[in-house]
Amino acid sequence: MPLTQEAVRAWLQRCAAVLEENRDYLTQLDAAIGDADHGVNMDRGFKAAMARLTTLNAPDIGSIFKTVGMALVATVGGAGGPLYGTFFLQLGVKTAGKQELTPQDWAEALEAAVNGVIARGQARPGDKTMVDALLPALEAFKVALQDGASFVEALARSAAAAEEGMKATIPMVAKKGRASYLGERSAGHQDPGATSSYLILQAAAETWADVS
Ligand code: ADP
Ligand code: MG
Repeated sequence: MPLTQEAVRAWLQRCAAVLEENRDYLTQLDAAIGDADHGVNMDRGFKAAMARLTTLNAPDIGSIFKTVGMALVATVGGAGGPLYGTFFLQLGVKTAGKQELTPQDWAEALEAAVNGVIARGQARPGDKTMVDALLPALEAFKVALQDGASFVEALARSAAAAEEGMKATIPMVAKKGRASYLGERSAGHQDPGATSSYLILQAAAETWADVS
């Protein structure tokens, strides 16, 4: 069964729960190389998004993602707000008019979302940002589908690649965002945005563990 509106809502609910659980952790990561607000920002943004979704009578999956994207842009602030806002707005553009998502639909939507983040923030791989988790996750998902993996397996491999990408940010020197102000001193710390991106994609793999 492809992803339904209900499955998409379940993922977003899980994201909100996981970001709440990890609020202090993400904020601590941001305290080391930024301004100690990433966890608070993401928790506030997803709570606002969930509040808007409660009253949304969505005609399609695209409108669910657009609602989340607009809520994040409006409430998160900083660098993370526009970047995650773009991520979800782009998911919304690609899934407009759809009542369900096949693995191929998810590959295309994720690709648009990740490309949107890159276009907006101009970060390259290795710059120590969320892109270092998102891009490997996208690649792993596409390669898994090409290899004939199931939707569930592809989602699991995508989340594993995001985790690896997140960990790989530790030795990197930040080239974008607030952490870049620290120069070499940003090395030795895991990037907060790469961490929230991993949590979001891991939530997808967990929530959608029974799709096909
Ligand atoms: P701010 O840095 O404004 O306080 P947040 O703390 O919410 O915003 O988010 C910080 C995260 O945003 C970083 O850890 C990094 O992953 C991500 N980030 C910052 N600038 C960029 C960029 N130009 N492109 C992609 N991601 C970025
Ligand atoms: Mg910050």
